[in-house]
Amino acid sequence: MKFAWNNKEPEENTVILNLKNLSVFYQKSQVLDKINLEIQSHQITAIIGPSGCGKSTLLRCFNRLNDLNRDVSVSGKILLDNREIYSFHPVDIRRRVGMVFQKPNPFPKSIYENIALGLRINGYQGDIDELVEYSLRQAALWDEVKQNLRRNALTLSGGQQQRLCIARALALQPSILLMDEPCSALDPVSTARIDELMHELKTHYTIVLVTHNMQQASRVSDMTAFFNLRTSERGEKIGYLSEYDRTEVIFHNPKQPSTQEYISGRFC
Ligand code: ADP
Ligand code: MG
Repeated sequence: MKFAWNNKEPEENTVILNLKNLSVFYQKSQVLDKINLEIQSHQITAIIGPSGCGKSTLLRCFNRLNDLNRDVSVSGKILLDNREIYSFHPVDIRRRVGMVFQKPNPFPKSIYENIALGLRINGYQGDIDELVEYSLRQAALWDEVKQNLRRNALTLSGGQQQRLCIARALALQPSILLMDEPCSALDPVSTARIDELMHELKTHYTIVLVTHNMQQASRVSDMTAFFNLRTSERGEKIGYLSEYDRTEVIFHNPKQPSTQEYISGRFC
């Protein structure tokens, strides 16, 4: 289906996000240290690691959400499709790089409006009804809600709300979908549904998934980045990229003993 966003789909197996020496600070405290990471298009990249190692902070760098926090400063480079992300308009970057959060956060409006609102704000020129339906189908929610699109989104189950949030992000036809622990508030059945959905979505989108669920990471992702914490000379905990490889290597034959410890749950 062709829509009025007029996007160029990135080719498969090209580097869509390229981080070069990315460091992030909250005021004077460093939380991520010189991250070098290449994320391939049309793949699912899982980001795993202990709490506080900077996974959410990293995702917020990818769509410049950290810009909204004056305490945050960033050094190094992030290239999206070979272009420095600070050369995009922030609204444009957030349309190209969509985000789904840990807790489903639909607007307290109808299912329809949850999707249509963002389209109008972004000046979508095509047929809104058509794109609402298409996005709900892509998020595997259409059949469950098509009878009543005027229903308040907050009356949906948690799993349905999360799929609505995915549909809302997809309606803007992003190149990349960031998912920050999208299933941690969901039951196993809803989680399995979202795993399946992610697998289908990667034909059109690149997904970066932060998860604490090792089964999910090993089941759905192609590449896995293991972030860890080290203690600086000043006694601060700093996150760094410890190991990055194909998911099967990370889960079955990691190079770092700490990766093995983390994935087998022996990490402390
Ligand atoms: P993770 O998602 O891996 O658990 P976060 O990115 O949330 O890690 O946090 C990384 C570090 O940055 C933690 O030490 C956390 O306390 C700190 N941090 C996160 N958000 C803020 C903030 N808004 N202000 C100050 N420090 C923060
Ligand atoms: Mg987090």
